[in-house]
Amino acid sequence: MIKREKIFITGRVQGVGFRPAVYRIAKSLGLTGFVYNDTKGVTIELQGEQGKCEEFLMRLKSDDKPPLAEIKSCEVTEVSVVEAQEEFRIEASDLAGSAVSQVTADMVVCGDCLAEMADENNFRYKYPFINCTNCGPRYSIVKRIPYDRCNTTMSKFEMCENCAAQYLDVNDRRFHAQPVACGKCGPKVWLTDGGGQIIDEQSDSAIAKTAELLKDGKIAAIKGVGGFHLAVDALNVDAVKRLRQRKQRDYKPFAMMTDSIEKIKRYAVVDEVAEQLLKSPQSPIVLLEKKGDTAIAPAVAEGVSMFGFMLCYAPLHFLLFAEGREVLVMTSGNISDESLICHNEKALEKLGDVADVFLMHDRDIYRRVDDSIIHIIDGQAVFLRRSRGYVPTPILMQQETERDVLATGGDLKNTFCLAKGNQLICSEHMGNLEDAGVYHHYVNSIGHLSFLFDFEPEKVVCDLHPGYLSTQYAKKVSHDEMIMVQHHWAHIASVLAEHGLGGPVIGLACDGTGFGSDGAIWGCECLIASLEKFERFGHLDYYLLAGGDLASKEAVRGVLGLLKKIYGDSFKIEDFHWLLERIEPDKSKIKVILEQLEKKVNTVETSSLGRVFDAVAAMIGLGSYNHFEAQLPMALEAIIQSGIEEHYDFAISDGEPARISFEKMVAQLIADVRDGVAEGIISAKFHNCVAAALVQMAVRARQSCGLDTVAISGGVFCNRYLTNRLIKLLKKEDFCVLFNREVPANDGGVSVGQAAIVAYVKT
Ligand code: ZN
Ligand code: ZN
Ligand code: FE
Repeated sequence: MIKREKIFITGRVQGVGFRPAVYRIAKSLGLTGFVYNDTKGVTIELQGEQGKCEEFLMRLKSDDKPPLAEIKSCEVTEVSVVEAQEEFRIEASDLAGSAVSQVTADMVVCGDCLAEMADENNFRYKYPFINCTNCGPRYSIVKRIPYDRCNTTMSKFEMCENCAAQYLDVNDRRFHAQPVACGKCGPKVWLTDGGGQIIDEQSDSAIAKTAELLKDGKIAAIKGVGGFHLAVDALNVDAVKRLRQRKQRDYKPFAMMTDSIEKIKRYAVVDEVAEQLLKSPQSPIVLLEKKGDTAIAPAVAEGVSMFGFMLCYAPLHFLLFAEGREVLVMTSGNISDESLICHNEKALEKLGDVADVFLMHDRDIYRRVDDSIIHIIDGQAVFLRRSRGYVPTPILMQQETERDVLATGGDLKNTFCLAKGNQLICSEHMGNLEDAGVYHHYVNSIGHLSFLFDFEPEKVVCDLHPGYLSTQYAKKVSHDEMIMVQHHWAHIASVLAEHGLGGPVIGLACDGTGFGSDGAIWGCECLIASLEKFERFGHLDYYLLAGGDLASKEAVRGVLGLLKKIYGDSFKIEDFHWLLERIEPDKSKIKVILEQLEKKVNTVETSSLGRVFDAVAAMIGLGSYNHFEAQLPMALEAIIQSGIEEHYDFAISDGEPARISFEKMVAQLIADVRDGVAEGIISAKFHNCVAAALVQMAVRARQSCGLDTVAISGGVFCNRYLTNRLIKLLKKEDFCVLFNREVPANDGGVSVGQAAIVAYVKT
């Protein structure tokens, strides 16, 4: 019996070779009909014998579908049979919002391509830019849509006959793979010294020579998919030290790359979730518990308990490791906090003094994308940085926004977000906007992505902080309507948006700084929040911080603020001399800060939890300065002794809002430090105290508002110990717990929350 079915499929089914796969299966079964894309997914109409139609669906859901495709839902309805239809066709896409479906993320080289690259008889043997529909660069090379070769940075390479034949063959794995190329027609690799003098022009030998130089402890700048890496042998102590000195990045941990899971397992603990992530087509950096006493140079990641590892993802990386390297440091090619470098000339100019050699190529990078960073919380993958492999995959909202919304994000770890239809398109990690280069890139990127996704912001949303550059930018570009959203509300909204919820929920938002509705600097907040509005149910009791932005660097400012809070006028510097001299040897500086606190000159009231972590780390003696964001809190987490259940005392006051007081905790902690209690125990008791206080706050909120879902977000929840413990304790109290999965809990997720709030409003 002949029948006709209309099949609607959602999931990752666009830009991954899905339609050609549908075409191939339908053809092979002698079915007629058509397939096309629209903003929601893929629609297929299929006509033929019932048995064949069933077989079609089975094959489409099995391994016959393209490797990158993921079917989320599949709806089948019977429609009336059409007479005289003879061919199965791929129809033009319904263009509305088509940019997002065409421009997919950059993916790791696939197994088929790797096999060809290793095959001496293949015409792409050892070709460092091998790719196909199932793998390779996308987002990083696209200038405009439609996603055709002429609109990518591959436009300057004309396909040879062999490549063109595959590109045009619907039965080939490279059918319409825009970056398709080979050694004859495509991009090439070469090696130069720091002055740009050519050392080797042949791809093969340039890569082999680079591997050789790395073995000798040399530093190489290597151009990859989304930008340059600085590479050095991770086992070579002197070489890693030299890279640190030259990169002027004295403390931040370096990420590492290798070519097999087995190698990673020599140095770090890899569980099943981590292994899956490492091997995924997105190939992110995954943070893994260090194993003790490994051969990794200590300077790779000091003061933290985790190593950041990724597997090779570009064909070039595989060729490099095939020359016999064990593990390489592969850190972003930039100087301290500047933007990732992606142009050849810029690399030579900026990194000429850092790298000994440059392994470069002429496939231009149009969008610079850092490596994504993921860690595992409560057994699930959670972003610390969302970039390569994930951007520009949209986050889907339950509702549609009536007007296009631009969310400008926050100033630190910036991302921005475009809301269009039911899609939230979050940009890749931009960085710290206070760096002039990063800001410039940010402005250009908003322009480029708006153009790429055919986006015209009618509403602009930004942070409430009047001093943020992202706020000032929003003011400049907003024509129609500008909305300011409180920082911690945006954090909680990011969780709601990801989970497709409108709220209200109990929100626990904890971080370093966010401008509060009352002008104070907030940072430990319990909100009753929905996408429509929020109410501040409770917070950490305010204390004073002197010195503005310096307070996020110099821990002594948090220490003195907390001591003054606790002891008030009875605070005597002599009593704490023993403690303070380790943190700040300059007595006159301490005096100046104390005077500021007394007279309230250049001080702010704050409920920052981040600064409490800084202060505790400093009091324990782990350092007194954040050379990079959250350095001290990370050091504090790294030393926790496991198996400690005890916690310091805290109090929560009644009243509106309810306030957490850490007075007892600080006093008990100082007594422990004085008594010489082990650092790891003090740190555990402190973390446990924070978790207990937050749980208690949530319980009070539930008593008051009757809600039993808690959403947690904010930079403090990048702390694995605290977050795992908090989730466990909240669940024990029968809360349903939501946390960020698709965007970072840190300020990298703020733009998504901002956009979701404004997209939710009906106008
Ligand atoms: Zn491939
Ligand atoms: Zn070719
Ligand atoms: Fe924040």
